[in-house]
Amino acid sequence: MTHDLAITGGRVVTPQGILQANIGITAGRVAVLTPDAVDAHEVLGAPGRVVLPGAVDIHVHFNEPGRPHWEGWGPGSRAAAAGGVTTVVEMPLNSIPSTTTADALKSKVASAQGQSLVDFALWGGLVADNLDDLPGLARGGVVGFKAFMCESGTKEFAFVDDAMLHEGLARLAELGQFLAVHAESNWITHRLTEQLRGAGRRDRPAWGESRPPAAELEAIQRALFLAGMTGCRLHIVHMSLPDGTQIIQATRDAGQRVTVETCAHYLTLTDADLVRLGPVAKCAPPLRNEKTQEELWRDVLGGRIDCITSDHSPCPTEDKTKGDEDIFEAWGGITGVQTLVPLMLTEGVHRRGMPLEQFATLLSVNPAKIVGLWPQKGAIQIGADADLLLIDLDREWTVERDWLQSRHRHSPFIGRRVRGWIEHVMRRGETIVSQGEAISTAGGRWLTRQ
Ligand SMILES: [Zn+2]
Repeated sequence: MTHDLAITGGRVVTPQGILQANIGITAGRVAVLTPDAVDAHEVLGAPGRVVLPGAVDIHVHFNEPGRPHWEGWGPGSRAAAAGGVTTVVEMPLNSIPSTTTADALKSKVASAQGQSLVDFALWGGLVADNLDDLPGLARGGVVGFKAFMCESGTKEFAFVDDAMLHEGLARLAELGQFLAVHAESNWITHRLTEQLRGAGRRDRPAWGESRPPAAELEAIQRALFLAGMTGCRLHIVHMSLPDGTQIIQATRDAGQRVTVETCAHYLTLTDADLVRLGPVAKCAPPLRNEKTQEELWRDVLGGRIDCITSDHSPCPTEDKTKGDEDIFEAWGGITGVQTLVPLMLTEGVHRRGMPLEQFATLLSVNPAKIVGLWPQKGAIQIGADADLLLIDLDREWTVERDWLQSRHRHSPFIGRRVRGWIEHVMRRGETIVSQGEAISTAGGRWLTRQ
């Protein structure tokens, strides 16, 4: 048959290994993968290029509706696309309204449709007072739920106490759903913050001191315990500590269903970078020290961490710079969806010898599976959506402000040398980015659980 498009001569990273293969694409899907010639109306030659599945970033915050001046679906999704992320799963936080009711879900979908360049799915929120909204959100098509165990930094998203967490987990288990948690103890972080601020501390290291490893590890343990008691599947978001990996691994070995992500910034920045760069590198949990970071890399390379996300949490630049004099005043979130893939190619594949198959597992396969988008998303295989990246793996380049597509072009990674250039990005067989430029607008589709 004659396909719509053939991509020829590339090294294709598939779940079965790396193949020197031609890809035939029909109706937006991978129709054939073969060393033989592929007949097609259009041919895109990829000699010397690596063909990766588009990344699936299951942790981004696009603040529309309500705060498009923070990050809108247009710029946010263009940033994703330019960075090789072809599917985003948006996590509720400070949109107005936040996605915590069925009506809010509808307005979230409406704001994304017609604007998002990449395909998208949505998380629903479990907050302090919305137990009765959980079934409607589940029916409405969220892929999972998210809760904070500590103050979220925004009044639009109230954190859950243990009673709500316990009951929410039980309800979600009944609904066949699962919960992702921001695991930091509110008791510990709240008290330490009051003490430090009360003592007049406003310096950058004070941020890390207010959120020590104990706060994260205690909350991970508590969430695992309550999830185990209620039989609910759990996902730990943005884990920053190798000690957390150990706790989770032990729970997994005991048969409990739990997955864990870490973020690119924990693998590429340290507490010293927060001191050097200031509020632009403020996040929660905070950046840890270099030794912790190398141990976290060992967990990633050892397959003990399921996926890597960006936790893209942008804000107007003034919400960062207002923390120049007092770190506690700055918004805590890193603008990172566009740098996720280049950073992980540089630091994982090139610097630490991560095989490309493992890269695809961490950035595409596993995240798609966790949120139920597999096998439509997550891999280059027959029948899957043709979401593809053509990568010039050895090209070195510098992350520049002008390349960034987010509404507010601040990033802790501006000026960083990286290796692995995303030459071409395809969403369902259609080119949406070429040589770093978005060449299309909108067209992204809403995805629900498979
Ligand atoms: Zn987040």
